[in-house]
Amino acid sequence: MLVEKILSELDRISIHESALDSGLAQRMLKVTPSEKIAIVQDPPGAHHRGALTAEQFNASKRHLYVHPFVGKFFKRCPGATQKKTLTCCNYYVLNLGAQCNFNCSYCYLQSYLNTPVMHAYSNLSHALDELEEMAKDHSHLPYRVGTGEVIDSLSLDPLTLYSVPLIEFFKKYPRWTLEFKTKSDHVDQFLSVPHAGNVVVSWSINAEEVIQREEHGTASQAQRLNAARKCADQGFQVAFHIDPLIWHPQWEQGYSDLADRITSLFKPEEVHVISIGALRFQPEQRHLMRERFGLTSLVTQAEMFPSDGGKMRYDFRLRNQMYQHVVNRFKSSGQKWKVFFCMETPESWINSMEGTPLQVDGLKDFFRPLPKIRSEREQNHNC
Ligand code: SF4
Repeated sequence: MLVEKILSELDRISIHESALDSGLAQRMLKVTPSEKIAIVQDPPGAHHRGALTAEQFNASKRHLYVHPFVGKFFKRCPGATQKKTLTCCNYYVLNLGAQCNFNCSYCYLQSYLNTPVMHAYSNLSHALDELEEMAKDHSHLPYRVGTGEVIDSLSLDPLTLYSVPLIEFFKKYPRWTLEFKTKSDHVDQFLSVPHAGNVVVSWSINAEEVIQREEHGTASQAQRLNAARKCADQGFQVAFHIDPLIWHPQWEQGYSDLADRITSLFKPEEVHVISIGALRFQPEQRHLMRERFGLTSLVTQAEMFPSDGGKMRYDFRLRNQMYQHVVNRFKSSGQKWKVFFCMETPESWINSMEGTPLQVDGLKDFFRPLPKIRSEREQNHNC
């Protein structure tokens, strides 16, 4: 049923002929109605240049292009490249596709992608080869690897089933952590896969009103929390990213309710971490957001200011007020909740927490710098 639902929301699936032998292409051919599928020799929209219009951006979410990825799958989280202005955790990303079939008004992909299709990479084995290479030097270090940078980790997973080989791969490297990040409730396909306890299934989650108004096509707050409970019951670690905090008239109540639901459904030791971030976006995506979501969106209505890193953010005082509210709500139900800020400045840490991450018990391990992996050393050397 879930596979049919995902397919029903896609207008077209194109498979590059060089991907035809892959497990992903074979599966797509099996489950997709033949009138929706095409085998292609050239990438769809290959002649497209420049930024996408609102209409083209919307259409890109309904056309899935299955093909091998040429390039490095594995790289450091973008926050780490802005070290002067942001406090970032040791996090690496493994991208198995690009673009997302959900539709959040604030999504940063609106300023990042200009591809007229949604990509699903067919050569997962190459990504795993890259990880094997990294393991030669670094299997003993606590690296965290996430798959949800430019695509939701699990929104298409009932189709791709990529979670299964990834979980199996990470079983070999128990010091590493694999993190899925999603706004879906698609977890049933991997719940029974044996794992080494090093898989974090994390939810980007929000006040229910924000989900309803701004995160179109995603699972409700209750569906995400139910899925998280199922994962915790199978021994997976779970995490929550309350991000982006978005001001709305009932924001205090909305975020209190969310914190209360998390603390009533989970014990602190079951939740790997809770990260918090406030609304931010690149100034150049504002016009696309207005065209796509109109002026009734909480995001397009928001009063935002340019920040040091170039992104538009709420005023510093409002951000701190929101952070303190959420942190206090968690801490009021116990001191053991591990709450941290994602993509925030050191000043925010000092104002809203007891200090910078390296001074806060329970968070030190996430932020302690690790040695660079071989490909990073090579990249820096080449520069
Ligand atoms: S789920 Fe994430 S990637 Fe997908 S539209 Fe929303 S913000 Fe963008």
